[in-house]
Amino acid sequence: MTNSAPSTESRTRRSRMREAEELVPSRRQYLRLKAQYPNAILLYRLGDFYEAFDQDAEIVARDARITLTSRSFGRNGRVPMAGIPHHALHHYLGRLLAAGHTVAIAEQLSEPGRGLVERAVTRVLTPGTVAEAALLPATENCYLAAVAFHGDRIGLAWVDVSTGEFATMELAGRDRMELLAEEFARLAPAECLVAETFEGSLPPAGRLTRLEPWHFDPDRAAQRLRTLFGVQSLAPFGCEHAPAALAAAGAIVAYLERTNPSLVSLLTSLRTELPAYRVGLDAATRRNLELTRGLRTGGTRGSLLGVLDLTCTPMGARALRRLVSEPIRDLVELRRRQDFVAILVANPELRHRLAQILLGAGDLERLMSRIVQGTGSLRDFLTLRQALATAEALVGTLRATSHEPLRVFAEMAGSCNDLATLLERAIVEDEEGARIRPGFCPELDAELAAIQETRRFLATLEQRERERTGIRSLKVGYNKVFGYYLEVTRPHLHRIPPEYVRKQTVATGERFITPELKDAEARLLAAEARITALERSALERLTREVTYRSGAVLHLARWIAQLDAFRALAEVAARYGWVRPELEESDTLEIRGGRHPVVEATLDDRPFVPNDCQLGGEGPQILLVTGPNMGGKSTYLRQVALIVLLAQIGSFVPAQRARIGLVDRIFSRIGAHDDLPGGQSTFLVEMIETATILRQATRRSLVILDEVGRGTATQDGLAIARAVLEDLHNRVAARTLFATHFLELTALTAELPRVANVHVAAIERDGHVVFLYRVLPGPADRAYGIHVARLAGLPSWVADRAEAFLSAPPSAVTIAQKESEQPCVAEPQGPRQLPLPGFPDGSAAAQALARELLALDLTQLSPRQALDWLFQQQTRLRSVTNSQE
Ligand code: ATP
Repeated sequence: MTNSAPSTESRTRRSRMREAEELVPSRRQYLRLKAQYPNAILLYRLGDFYEAFDQDAEIVARDARITLTSRSFGRNGRVPMAGIPHHALHHYLGRLLAAGHTVAIAEQLSEPGRGLVERAVTRVLTPGTVAEAALLPATENCYLAAVAFHGDRIGLAWVDVSTGEFATMELAGRDRMELLAEEFARLAPAECLVAETFEGSLPPAGRLTRLEPWHFDPDRAAQRLRTLFGVQSLAPFGCEHAPAALAAAGAIVAYLERTNPSLVSLLTSLRTELPAYRVGLDAATRRNLELTRGLRTGGTRGSLLGVLDLTCTPMGARALRRLVSEPIRDLVELRRRQDFVAILVANPELRHRLAQILLGAGDLERLMSRIVQGTGSLRDFLTLRQALATAEALVGTLRATSHEPLRVFAEMAGSCNDLATLLERAIVEDEEGARIRPGFCPELDAELAAIQETRRFLATLEQRERERTGIRSLKVGYNKVFGYYLEVTRPHLHRIPPEYVRKQTVATGERFITPELKDAEARLLAAEARITALERSALERLTREVTYRSGAVLHLARWIAQLDAFRALAEVAARYGWVRPELEESDTLEIRGGRHPVVEATLDDRPFVPNDCQLGGEGPQILLVTGPNMGGKSTYLRQVALIVLLAQIGSFVPAQRARIGLVDRIFSRIGAHDDLPGGQSTFLVEMIETATILRQATRRSLVILDEVGRGTATQDGLAIARAVLEDLHNRVAARTLFATHFLELTALTAELPRVANVHVAAIERDGHVVFLYRVLPGPADRAYGIHVARLAGLPSWVADRAEAFLSAPPSAVTIAQKESEQPCVAEPQGPRQLPLPGFPDGSAAAQALARELLALDLTQLSPRQALDWLFQQQTRLRSVTNSQE
């Protein structure tokens, strides 16, 4: 056995080699390239298509939704194939990346002609390393994250390769995994790198990519970063003594060097962030408060960002999204932002002028990404020039104001004047589009002059030959196959000179060439080729110049983005009448006339009713909010949280007045929802979120709890809600808003001194409930649930039945008690409890009959209809009576 095994193996190897030799050369080339990228889908350029073969073809067919075909390669039979048309590459690439694949693109490097076309993989794309603007949503960042574990610390780094944003942080302490989850919720990484030896679980990311552990070695990482930035020390980057943060950032650089080295030059700086600077927001809170995504729409519509986004540029929109996702607790920085917004609010003309200028800035960040990768066109350089001019105009406008904060901000833009001058010298735009400006490249000018000369010669040739031959219909023409020719119609063929060489016969005559024409043509083609090469090298020179200054340009781009974002905040404040909140380091929360920014914007038929809120400081620490369904409790809770959040991004707030003691975290648990894909029931999700709050909230936090304990049996729910409230009151001491339908809880104010009751007011008028949306002191007296159920279209007989229960307390109580004893099914209480569709029973039946009788308009009934009605009621009553006997 031992002897025969190698011989079988070598036979197999020999036969495989023979097979490879027999393959047609392009197949062999494909297999060689594929062997270099075994874990990627290889898209192999073949003429007008990017082809995938074998198993890749099956994946492409499935995930990019493309027809699966097959192709024959000589005697080796057919292999599966899926082809993406080259002009639709981005479209299908988007689908493959969204499905979490890595895609390697093999381009044709030589012109198709005789022999095998040279091909090589020029780009590898993974979900987190996409830099092509066409594949990315304009107003969102796309992050590649890396997580490194070092002792009891976690390093988290992230980069957006389409904009060059690169940052890292270190998380420590008992709740570092929770902090990591919060950061993931903020960044929503499209891809996350982690060592392949890591066995735990990470918060969800678009795709998890496991790398060999050496990628995360802090020493190697530090060396790699020092080389990248060309520095001796990483101290200025703030992470020199943060090994986990270094390891994560180093892993990102190593990964980019492997997948797409041209992206690395975009990383011009590294920011080390301190999580302590931020307001903690977990994933549930972000979702519940609908910060950047509306729960119903799934997009920005219906979200806070949807109201705020009055930016003029995509990079401004991304900056605003980051602002909303990253509230902070640095009073000095917040006041600086407020000053800035306040000046713009007070100066509508300046705001307007800045908006006008900003519209010309385009997406400078992503433009830079294209240029630095070497895929920028001449038009891109022109756009860059325009963006630099825009920046200069913005700086000039801010400098010209009398406002110190604006002038200070203007000085932070930095200067790219030399680049602007260079681009001005290099490119000119005319009716034909962008081209290299004469004088920038003398050799190019000479070639262009020569080509002009040849073209002039060709233009005069027709006239000269007509005169020389006397053939007035002679024409000079051009086609792709024969190049330039002289065309003579049949009746004049006898007059052609002897040096005319016949090339082609057409229906009306013959086409000729002459040595002189051939010579001019050759000169033209050679000059054209030289011009293309010279233009390419001019473009490469520009690319080098811009890449060299990419740090300054990206800094400028971020400066513009910030200006755009804060201008938008000022625009919103002015448009909707928001005010500057007073910020302080205390546990006070005082809002006069607060509004919900999103609900207010959606109400077009009636005004939003403003409400006050007083929490912490002299006031209560916990507000118990009761009131009818649909009365506005959730809206009130959320509006308080959103006002605090807006204040802590530096924005004005929708209120008449607000005094806000900065919070360290905002927690919200609103409404019940399942996480069925995650295998969690409504109640479990509710309890996990509540547990998170109780474990992490501090005295400085703001807690919003809506209907905690509703997902289980009434008695259990009530008990849990009460215990949670007690813990928040006695131990956590966080400012809390607690909305509930458990009216029993309102009695707690007698036992817990820092709890106060408020209710959203409603009145009953003509049997209908009228919501006032006004928050008043004291508890609610009832829930109006059945009124709301009627509004929702619950069948009248069911609503009637419910009302009957309500007005007959003993039986209702019996059911409530039974429910808590037997949560699955209420015990049938003899025949009287049997549900009878269409007709209530017992005293409720009598009430229903009385109501229907009262509702009858006898003046409108014919005797026959009246008799029918009586007959019907009697039949239904009999059936009830029979079933009871
Ligand atoms: P439930 O207890 O059924 O969850 P709720 O008391 O939490 O109801 P909300 O969901 O907050 O009620 O509000 C219901 C609707 O009432 C909102 O969608 C909004 O249209 C309107 N509304 C709420 N607050 C106000 C207000 N202050 N001014 C005007 N309309 C409001």
